[in-house]
Amino acid sequence: MTSARTAPHWRITLADNTVDEQEITAVSEVLRSRWLSAGGQTAAFEREFADRLGVDEAVAVSSGTAALHLATMALDLRPGDEVIMPALTFVACAAVVALAGAVPVLADVRAPDDLTVDPADVTRLLTRRTRAVVAMHYAGYPADLPALRAVCERHGVSLIEDAAHAPAVGYAGGMLGTHGDIGCFSFFATKNLTTGEGGMVLARDPAVRERIRLARSHHLTASTWDRLRSGDASYDVSGYGLNYRPTEVSAALGRVQLRKLTLDRLRRRALVATYREVLAAAPELVLPFAERTGDSALHLMPVVLPDGVDRAVVREELSASGIQTSVHYPPVHHLSAYRGSAGAERSALAVTDAVAPRLLSLPLHSRMSDDDAALAARTLLRCLRVR
Ligand SMILES: *Cc1c(COP(=O)(O)O)cnc(C)c1O
Repeated sequence: MTSARTAPHWRITLADNTVDEQEITAVSEVLRSRWLSAGGQTAAFEREFADRLGVDEAVAVSSGTAALHLATMALDLRPGDEVIMPALTFVACAAVVALAGAVPVLADVRAPDDLTVDPADVTRLLTRRTRAVVAMHYAGYPADLPALRAVCERHGVSLIEDAAHAPAVGYAGGMLGTHGDIGCFSFFATKNLTTGEGGMVLARDPAVRERIRLARSHHLTASTWDRLRSGDASYDVSGYGLNYRPTEVSAALGRVQLRKLTLDRLRRRALVATYREVLAAAPELVLPFAERTGDSALHLMPVVLPDGVDRAVVREELSASGIQTSVHYPPVHHLSAYRGSAGAERSALAVTDAVAPRLLSLPLHSRMSDDDAALAARTLLRCLRVR
């Protein structure tokens, strides 16, 4: 059976989610309660997410971009301030910095087989104006947090983790998203844990966390929920804020999804193993992170095509076989809004530029069978004329 949301053209979609009757029941209960925002579901989702990550508190928000925006707002960026981030990341990281009048400074990634930000390049890019460094855990694999933390501490700048690909990944004695000053998560429709649209923010410093919580909801000193409970209708506004609240529906969805992460991870692990086994037949194909032994959310299955292969042709051939692919990501400095921008010219970005035209993401989600992964891998081998 083809579900309504899956284009019948695709035999294997790039991503899918684990939503089933459990989420439908949870969401129905919220709708029956008729309390749709800022209530018990949001509070419980925050509690359960914080417990899962081993932190005191988490702040649920309406998207990963909202999480990143609140993180940069907490930095009180001034025009001309700089935030260093990998050039190979989703554009939201750069946009929230640029919108504050600050400069997204783009750093190179480490190597074709390690697509996380290079701490040595970050160090080279530090100036007196640097306020923060963003580490993005590409495909769910940890960036080099010990090195990045050391650089940030030495220079007195904040470390922000974009853990959109990496919910509940253990690394060096703590979960990803808890090593930096602020950790941001996304629950967008294609992410391992999804609420359709949604996100979460963690902050090490309780005062920063409180500012983020207030800014999420207009910096109101009392929420609708508090006012309902206390019977007091008054509130004050102690700073500039926005409305980045999740709905109770999405929080209820998130609570069920959080419980499914472990099984989802196990399935992804088997699929990635199958991919790597079959794709080993193409020695010129780079399989990023293949040598990593630690935990990963295995959010994506990226490959770096052999030099000189026309990616468009490969994608076309895969698509003709019903296999959906994507590219994560066009580097920020290749996008017209950022091309030639102040922060795009500082680093050579040699690795990023070399891998960018060769990057390809293959289907990876826990509704796939091992046969699906083997089929997608063999179809790629056929495109590369490997037998
Ligand atoms: C998905 C994603 C975001 C943005 O999250 P949204 O929930 O879509 O706003 C930011 N950074 C990375 C690395 C992402 O993958």
